[in-house]
Amino acid sequence: MFLKVEPFQLLFIDIDTFSEDYCEEIWKTLANSVKLVFFTVDVTNPKIQNLHLYGEVCHFFGFSNIFAFIDNNNLMVEILNSFNIKSDQAAVVTKSIDSLDYLTGLNIRNILVSGQGDFEHAPDFLCRSSRDLIEVTQNILGTYFAENFFLNHPCPKSMLLKKVLKSDNAYINVFAGGRYYKKNCCQSQYHFLSNKIISNKTDGKENPLFYPLYKKMIKTCWMNPSNNTIIVSVPPQPGKINRFKRLVENLSRFFGFIDGSDYIICPLNYGNNKSRNAVERAKSLQGVFCLNPELNSNPFIGKNVIIIDDIVASGATISEIGSLLLNNNANNINAFVMGINQKNNFWENYSPLLCPNCNVPMILRMRNRDSKPFFGCQNYFSNGCTQTISFDNGMLKLKALNNLKVIEEDPFEF
Ligand SMILES: [Zn+2]
Repeated sequence: MFLKVEPFQLLFIDIDTFSEDYCEEIWKTLANSVKLVFFTVDVTNPKIQNLHLYGEVCHFFGFSNIFAFIDNNNLMVEILNSFNIKSDQAAVVTKSIDSLDYLTGLNIRNILVSGQGDFEHAPDFLCRSSRDLIEVTQNILGTYFAENFFLNHPCPKSMLLKKVLKSDNAYINVFAGGRYYKKNCCQSQYHFLSNKIISNKTDGKENPLFYPLYKKMIKTCWMNPSNNTIIVSVPPQPGKINRFKRLVENLSRFFGFIDGSDYIICPLNYGNNKSRNAVERAKSLQGVFCLNPELNSNPFIGKNVIIIDDIVASGATISEIGSLLLNNNANNINAFVMGINQKNNFWENYSPLLCPNCNVPMILRMRNRDSKPFFGCQNYFSNGCTQTISFDNGMLKLKALNNLKVIEEDPFEF
């Protein structure tokens, strides 16, 4: 139902980030099943000379070097083309979260090896140690790490994605069940959860996928006593509906939490945050929320608070509500969201699947009779175009359309 993973054929290894431990044993094992290309800024480093035994050692300019974006991109494309491998069948392996932030916008998979679990953007795969790389490349999970939490089997807490926000000298943990791709990202077209979150933002309807996901996340990691816990949704701006009111009611009933949604309100309009950066978002939200003066009571004193929102981008909304409640003597704040917002590729626009009749994008839909996904023409509701394409074929076409490409430098453009 979510992004399916192609078997890996090639790994680019950001070997300089493995400075303590060059993991020779692991590369030796991996080299039996995938091609390895070690990227380093210093090919003469004597410590990595042995790696020639397991794959190519290649000079590059560093993933943390933003000025080398085009060179690094084109080097990867050149290597992939020489082996006739698509970018979807390859991944970059790194130990650096900074490199990861740079890589999430590219149409190539990424694998982060890190004991840390605090993400600005979530990786496709998270390995707690280099040893886990063997499992990931053999595709034992069968899906991306970030979507693993949706599978039916019991999931350990470590599988939840987490982002930590700092607010008024307190830390707010934001737990996420998966990733979120915005509407103009190619991935959102075949990423089911993103698709449903986008429709919810437009039509306000709660999708049946949502409630079980929040329930599972809270069940997995909520350790505080329920009678000392208050759950709230983000109050809507004036004139807007609260899309999560019913969901929060249901969660509070199921877990025995106090439903605090009516105790916070948003009397001020702060407009649309979509086009604002993190600083502008935080500024536009300052002081827009308050305790509901009509209820004239503060139920948050000494309580553990859970904030429910759909996605986390900069975290400004959650931080602002968190500050308000901490200032009103709440004990601690945690938040649960469905997805961590992923970065858009800032160099090229993604190409959608187009309807052969109308030349408009085809969108991911679900068949009523058996809930199977497929791609259908966007004009189905407006002019009745019945053009469809199966999910698997659509995925293949979309990925081919969005393969990592050479970026041409334009000497006349700066
Ligand atoms: Zn059509």
